[in-house]
Amino acid sequence: MPTDNLDQSAQNMRLVLPLMSKHKIPVTPTHYAVFYEYVTGTDTALKDAFDQVANSDSPITEALSEDLYQRFLYGGGEERVSQVNDAMAKMLREIGGMVETAGGDVSTYSTALTDISDRIQAGGDEKDVARALDELTEATSTMQAAGSALKQRLNESLEESNSLRDELSAAKQEAITDPLTGLANRKAFDLRMKELAAAAGQEGNYCLVMADIDKFKRINDTYGHVLGDKVIKYLARVLKSSVKGQDLVARYGGEEFAVLLPTTPLTGALAVAETIRATVEKGRLVRSGTRESIGTVTVSLGAAEYRPGESPEELTARADAALYSAKENGRNQVQAEEALKAAS
Ligand code: GH3
Ligand code: MG
Ligand code: MG
Repeated sequence: MPTDNLDQSAQNMRLVLPLMSKHKIPVTPTHYAVFYEYVTGTDTALKDAFDQVANSDSPITEALSEDLYQRFLYGGGEERVSQVNDAMAKMLREIGGMVETAGGDVSTYSTALTDISDRIQAGGDEKDVARALDELTEATSTMQAAGSALKQRLNESLEESNSLRDELSAAKQEAITDPLTGLANRKAFDLRMKELAAAAGQEGNYCLVMADIDKFKRINDTYGHVLGDKVIKYLARVLKSSVKGQDLVARYGGEEFAVLLPTTPLTGALAVAETIRATVEKGRLVRSGTRESIGTVTVSLGAAEYRPGESPEELTARADAALYSAKENGRNQVQAEEALKAAS
């Protein structure tokens, strides 16, 4: 990394932190990112929006910084992860820059020490020695001041990079999580399907169960979407509590869920599916205010076992076909792909 980049980064940070402190903005990753972009001026739209407020009578507030972040920096999902990564990389370069600066201070100090000790050694009158000792004290306290300023900056940077790291892992997690249910989202499901297909043969067979709420449209139409969402969350809890550690429960689409069961034969998958079906059927869901029952909610499920060499799409299609046949057969039931084969 060229030195001028390090210097530039360290310089940027020295501009960012005082500016934030001047406006009483806490050094969080979000605010830091906004102020960093402003100081470097790389995002001209952000800079213009910032300057517009700065040049008016309105104060620079946390709310403004948050708004700028949402409008210009927040990309959501992967984009956001890479932004946080960039911020982290910048932070590391800045720390590097500061350490270089400290290196300069240390060598000045050591030159001063050598000079002073030479003069003391050369002898001279008491006044010369006293002057040399005064200089020594001064050089030492200068060095101490530089040292503690650096220490403070390093501490700040460390805190910043810690919270950036937390933010990064939260952003990564968020990118693969369904916000309504907290389950894995479709993306996480697709990834796991690929991994399992790639490892198949080593890990043995695995199964996919697809589940879909029966007559969900009626629930929404009768009780409204808010309650519909509650039913979706309820099913998510049942699914989650019906599987073990290595299994993956994902929200596949609106009211459709996928359960991936590694190292599980079809009979095992059918047992899990049946447990889910029976648990959902037993649930007594009531409206939170009136305690009015919303009647029985049921779910249909289809299970398929991975066949060596097939693609994730093929396995999904077979589990989906099994689910479709459960619907056709009257809903509130589990169907296996084999039943389809036997029927045709
Ligand atoms: P079936 O038994 O055949 O599955 O009937 P259904 O009514 O459940 O099937 P359909 O797929 O026709 O309707 C699903 C409905 O789910 C359509 C949509 O309005 C609703 N839905 C999808 N996603 C959500 C969601 O996130 N929240 C709510 N409240 N409703 C949703
Ligand atoms: Mg449905
Ligand atoms: Mg559906």
